[in-house]
Amino acid sequence: MYDIIIVGAGPAGSTLAHKLAVLGFSVLIIEKQAWPRFKPCAGGITKRCYNRIATDISKVVEDTTYSMVLTLHHRIGAEITATSPLIYQVDRKKFDAVLSDIAVKSGAEFHVREKFLDFEHHEGYISVKTEKDSYMCRVLVGADGVNSTVARKAGFTKFKVGTALEAEVRPKSHTIEDLKGKIHIDFGTIKAGYGWNFPKKDSLSIGVGTFRNMAKDIRDSLHHMLDSEEINNNDEVHVYGHPLAFPHGEKRRYNKGNILLVGDAAGLADPFTGEGIYYAVWSASIASEVISGWFNGKGNLDAYTKRINKEIRPEIRSAYELSVFCYHFFPFVMLNLKNFPVIFSYFADVITGHDDFRYWQVKVPSCMFGIRKPQSKVDIKYIK
Ligand SMILES: Cc1cc2nc3c(=O)[nH]c(=O)nc-3n(C[C@H](O)[C@H](O)[C@H](O)COP(=O)(O)OP(=O)(O)OC[C@H]3O[C@@H](n4cnc5c(N)ncnc54)[C@H](O)[C@@H]3O)c2cc1C
Repeated sequence: MYDIIIVGAGPAGSTLAHKLAVLGFSVLIIEKQAWPRFKPCAGGITKRCYNRIATDISKVVEDTTYSMVLTLHHRIGAEITATSPLIYQVDRKKFDAVLSDIAVKSGAEFHVREKFLDFEHHEGYISVKTEKDSYMCRVLVGADGVNSTVARKAGFTKFKVGTALEAEVRPKSHTIEDLKGKIHIDFGTIKAGYGWNFPKKDSLSIGVGTFRNMAKDIRDSLHHMLDSEEINNNDEVHVYGHPLAFPHGEKRRYNKGNILLVGDAAGLADPFTGEGIYYAVWSASIASEVISGWFNGKGNLDAYTKRINKEIRPEIRSAYELSVFCYHFFPFVMLNLKNFPVIFSYFADVITGHDDFRYWQVKVPSCMFGIRKPQSKVDIKYIK
């Protein structure tokens, strides 16, 4: 009998496994893919996320982002450069392997190429069925991503999902050295979403993402983005589609008795920026505190739902409201960004963890009128 079985070894599952294993709990991670595995992802680890990660990931950081080039239809926009790092660029295969390695070193058992199929409740334990075997545990955690089987089998309510198309590009026709240190985000490439170009060591993650009902022409949008980034037929391009958690931040259950969901499986991601690793790691930390407390006779597992709704959900709700505002009033937003560059400093504060999106409706005007002073120092060059 395991204390905890975790389905999925991504950032959420591996972080949780590590945190519980170091406390002495018996933990089994069940992962369906061969490991390390490829995960379609831009691989941007914001500074606020970096600060929450339980181990040193510096050896897998392939580029450090100080500048963000934000454009509209690849024309007008601004290049914002901060004095300290904003985002660390990683290859997900290597990054996720670092997290799973420390989980194993801490004592977690790790089964790969083993697909979780179903579970059953029994008096005092849960039986878990995979395609290879059956196991018993006291607590089952779904860390199995946006299409979570655990969530479906346990009957959790669904959350809104978006669509992303990502191209992994190895340029052959030109060098990417001059793209290093900055990312490009374009807001005109796709409706109610954005296109991105995040450089890695010797490749680029170029993609587009939006709400599912807006994704009809997503392939054309990706081609447009690739053309604009000067990617041509000589370059090696592999395209992957993947759903994105796009929650609206409504109150939901994140546990049902002894079954908990973390990360994408719980629909915890930022619907404005698409950032999910931060929430995967954050929800895993909360889950580890609640689960260890429960085993030690302190509180019950419903505390997990309460804490996610209290600590994480308001941030996601605020990000959702901000995205709705920006996409509806884009010209107004652009005008204000031009007249009040301090808004970029507030945004940099959010990315670096000095601030958050909560009460942005008050914080942004307070910054504009000098009442609130963001900490981040940024230099802005406008692109006409
Ligand atoms: C195109 C794209 C770009 C993105 N870019 C960024 C970015 O730049 N920065 C950022 O912060 N976020 C980004 N995200 C979001 C980020 O990828 C996710 O939020 C993050 O991977 C969530 O981690 P997780 O551990 O919850 O789930 P995952 O990383 O999806 O891991 C889930 C694991 O569960 C396994 N699994 C699934 N089903 C089963 C089963 N039945 N049995 C056993 N194992 C199973 C899977 O194989 C997988 O390894 C992006 C997403 C997409 C689609």
